[in-house]
Amino acid sequence: MSQSFDKSPAEQLLTPVQFLKGVGPQRAEMLARLGLYKARDVLFFFPRDYQDLSETREISELEEGVPASIVGTVEEIDLRNTAPGRSIVGVLFRQAGQYLRAVWFNQPFMRDKFKQGDRVLLSGTVKKSGMRWEMAHPRVEIIADEDEEPAGRVLPVYPLTEGINQGLMRRIVHGVVEQFAEAIDEVLPDEFLAAHGLLPIRVALPQIHAPTDVASLERARERFIYQELLVLQLALALRRQQLTRGRKSVALPATTKIDSRIRRIFPFELTDDQNSAIEDVVADMARDFPMNRLVQGEVGSGKTAVAVYAMLLAVAHGYQTALMAPTEVLARQHAGTFAKLLEDAKVRVALLTGSLTAAQRRKLLEDLAAGEIDLVVGTQAIVQSGVDFAKLGLVVIDEQHRFGVEQRAKLRQAGVDPHYLVMTATPIPRTIGMTLFGDLDVSTIRQMPPGRQPVHSYLANHEQRDQWWEFFCKKLREGRQGYVVTPLVDESETVATANLQDAYEELANGPLEEFRLDLVHGRLSGEEKATVMDAFRHGETQVLVATSVVEVGVDVPNATLMTIEGGERFGLAQLHQLRGRISRGKHPGYVTVFADPQTESSKARLQAFVEHTDGFHLAEVDFSLRGPGDLLGTRQHGLPPLRVADLRTDTDQLEKARADARQLIADDPLLNNPLYTKLRRQVLIRYGKVLELGDVG
Ligand code: ADP
Ligand code: MG
Repeated sequence: MSQSFDKSPAEQLLTPVQFLKGVGPQRAEMLARLGLYKARDVLFFFPRDYQDLSETREISELEEGVPASIVGTVEEIDLRNTAPGRSIVGVLFRQAGQYLRAVWFNQPFMRDKFKQGDRVLLSGTVKKSGMRWEMAHPRVEIIADEDEEPAGRVLPVYPLTEGINQGLMRRIVHGVVEQFAEAIDEVLPDEFLAAHGLLPIRVALPQIHAPTDVASLERARERFIYQELLVLQLALALRRQQLTRGRKSVALPATTKIDSRIRRIFPFELTDDQNSAIEDVVADMARDFPMNRLVQGEVGSGKTAVAVYAMLLAVAHGYQTALMAPTEVLARQHAGTFAKLLEDAKVRVALLTGSLTAAQRRKLLEDLAAGEIDLVVGTQAIVQSGVDFAKLGLVVIDEQHRFGVEQRAKLRQAGVDPHYLVMTATPIPRTIGMTLFGDLDVSTIRQMPPGRQPVHSYLANHEQRDQWWEFFCKKLREGRQGYVVTPLVDESETVATANLQDAYEELANGPLEEFRLDLVHGRLSGEEKATVMDAFRHGETQVLVATSVVEVGVDVPNATLMTIEGGERFGLAQLHQLRGRISRGKHPGYVTVFADPQTESSKARLQAFVEHTDGFHLAEVDFSLRGPGDLLGTRQHGLPPLRVADLRTDTDQLEKARADARQLIADDPLLNNPLYTKLRRQVLIRYGKVLELGDVG
């Protein structure tokens, strides 16, 4: 190791783990399985948990019936079979010449958990059994091998891999921290640390691995949590800056005259939430840089009206506008809505989908390029090359959160960007929103339009089937329509379609035989689906049997019934989305979920579903029921998982990091201040690629 002394600190941190104290080539291979290759990796290999020994007691201090933690060494282990299938495992622990016995009933495997000499942290309630203290079914954690000397009273617990036990891992990390912590570079400027009350990294790093006490551990964690969130929020703020303030758009202000002309279109009074979303949009579009706004609101909350307002504002200024839906069915539905709303307006609407013939498509593209179409509705196919607009002022994107830099480049004309409005019906917890949508400005519609009927939701078991179908049929006879949704199991599309076909046959020949049924699934072509949906919309079919792929947002107000099969296979958000489809008309909706939940959290999810109808509330419930680790969304949306921060609990830190990041970028749009060079580099390394921060680099 003497070689490392003539290396720069940065080089030292790149020392391969093989050359670390106590490692060697064989263990280096094992460490590689944990992603540990260099000394640096080990420094930032944070404990997944801690064992707090600071609150442990001496055996002599124990009190009958009072919960306590003690540390003892395994002295003897015995297993007795008391009857067939019944057993007692007893483990005798020694501590400073005194003894405590732990017992486990009918858990014979506990015998193999320990070996003589193990040091163990036990927590439980003690009672006196004869002369000796006893703990039944205590919580146990093996601290490490006996030869280990814990540095503090709060011990780190690291993720492990075969061949490397906790004691060894602690020694390896401890050695690396001793040797290399000083070489670590501080990315945050001193004034910044002071202003935010953060520990310098050279203090925080040793503390997170070997805390002197719980309070110091908290301060160290705080530093890393904040830094992790700040880096993320800076990346998002940079992206936001790059997509908006960094670019040019045409200002499209709303005059009083335009405003009243647009409002006249709507056959209803806009809700307060719709109005305030529109206010946000109007303010954005009046500026000469692109709007980049998300309107979130549950299914049926009336986001389309906000989009229509924005689109007509662009058209009023002589600009074209495009709406992109995630599927062809939804594109058609939007086109239908617009055609009806704009019947008397002089707005030229067109639908651009994959089902056009080559000739139709050519004509449409010509018209778009010539400026003879004002409003085009379609799928993402609209951004394909070959689609030219005469004057594109606004793009509305339904149900897709991130619209790529490359896609935007295709819609840019002569350096001028259209404004962007994104709509989502997926309620997500606030903290997730601040992460996933950190680069967008967000307007939220919480209020439902007036006169909305409730959806009665039930959780049922198989014995209640007949009763439910009876009710379902009664409502169908009254003229209502309904859906039957089956889960899309982890199977091939072919198998899933076959399952659906079976379900359909069963219903058509069973409880629903007197009604007109149809089937919709992922294997149908866009055109076939459209035909099925049209027949349903017009009431020609009464019941639609579908997999969960049936499009979100499908709007058939007369459909008020829904049966969901295999409810335990659906996520809470998905169930809620499905329910949204039967809350659209003047009749109340009824949904029954048949489910066979296998876990407590699955039960809790289903229970929450039937008890609550506010999607934002359900999203929070869902979030809290999830385990730690990669939480909802971040990875799904392509962001690397957070390593120390937990979006469920570190909300204050997140708010702070976000405000600080936005402030930093407002003052210094590209983060060019030399004080922040290292921080900026960290942002780019971690998020440059996924968030397409190319121009910033
Ligand atoms: P979303 O897109 O948010 O799911 P929509 O915009 O499709 O919801 O609106 C759902 C239904 O509510 C539509 O039939 C629409 O005409 C109606 N609606 C929207 N806003 C209002 C309102 N302010 N008052 C009454 N009905 C409304
Ligand atoms: Mg919609």
